Amino acid sequence: MIPTPAYAAPAAGEPLGPFTIERREPGAHDVLIDISHCGVCHSDLHQVRDEWGGATFPMVPGHEIVGRVAAIGSAVTNWKVGDVVGVGVFVDSCRECAACRDGLEQYCERGLTPTYNGVERDGKSRTFGGYSTRITVDEDYVLRVPTNLPPDRVAPLLCAGITTWSPLVHFGVQAKTRVAILGLGGLGHMGVKLAKARGAEVTVLSRTAEKRSAAKALGADDFVDLSDSAAVARVAARFDFLLDTVSAPHEYGPMLELLRRDATMVVVGLPGPSRFDPSALIEKRRRLAGSSIGGIRETQEMLDFCGAHGIGADVETIAAREVNTAFTRMLKSDVRYRFVIDCATLER
Ligand code: NAP
Ligand code: ZN
Ligand code: ZN
Repeated sequence: MIPTPAYAAPAAGEPLGPFTIERREPGAHDVLIDISHCGVCHSDLHQVRDEWGGATFPMVPGHEIVGRVAAIGSAVTNWKVGDVVGVGVFVDSCRECAACRDGLEQYCERGLTPTYNGVERDGKSRTFGGYSTRITVDEDYVLRVPTNLPPDRVAPLLCAGITTWSPLVHFGVQAKTRVAILGLGGLGHMGVKLAKARGAEVTVLSRTAEKRSAAKALGADDFVDLSDSAAVARVAARFDFLLDTVSAPHEYGPMLELLRRDATMVVVGLPGPSRFDPSALIEKRRRLAGSSIGGIRETQEMLDFCGAHGIGADVETIAAREVNTAFTRMLKSDVRYRFVIDCATLER
């Protein structure tokens, strides 16, 4: 086993602090990665606070991982020492079910193996995430990342990027599609960039009026302050597609009202239960759907697209010891738009 410095939450809702984990020596099909950066996703905060239930502690969060291959197993052919690679939200899946065979491992019928707060397929070893200096991952769950962008700007693509990309592609967002992105955080700002890169006409829906100019700078065509009811009324029944990235409980009905007839709202934010009145669906035959991250194949496609178009996340790079403050600031929407941990700061 390889002792590895990490940052962990000792119990639900407790601040994170230095902790040492053990990584496995690479098996025949494994890749050992020296982690350079790891993004701070709102899902990390939900799980550290056990807001979804079933969390296990100590917990080392982090599933937006970028680093360099440090060693490979004897049977690994796709990766070599020194490659810049990424790891996202899962590190394994059953590989046999219909979803896995379709390259949709995120919907694995036997359950994927989450990068942290989960258990490996041996049923015993707990998984620990990227708030650490290295990780051992099966070669099939490692991704090639663009090297023309700084690694801290690439890390958030592994979750925020793919979680917004997958529904944009699946639901056919293309040139001229009228897209609304609800919530301008880590996911939302990637949604804006990726929808714009696909040629869509993009409107940001935000409760934070101060984000107006930043939204425009990201490429948004329009910005609607959700606290301004007249501005909201002006975009009623306007959009072809609405992506809801909000991390806190909110009502879905008023957002559905912003869709035209037969249009789709896709929820990716995971705030927990919410009251729901279906009348807005019925009035205009609107659709409400959900979407979970993305499979390995489409994650690779998204990374290649981002490399070709020079698209990275807008980040604030922090030392590991700043992560508790980062969580507090993220809760206040005070981040433009993703905190990323410089994992070299874990060594000290
Ligand atoms: P984030 O950076 O904190 O952004 C969330 C945004 O939601 C905030 O910037 C804010 O935008 C808005 N918001 C926050 N509190 C709100 C409230 N009380 N009412 C209305 N709007 C509020 O979080 P993130 O990392 O983007 O993650 C967003 C959500 O997606 C989380 O629930 C996360 O767990 C989930 N997620 C899901 C998947 C998936 O596969 N489906 C993958 C990753 C993350 P404004 O300031 O612009 O209003
Ligand atoms: Zn995430
Ligand atoms: Zn499967």
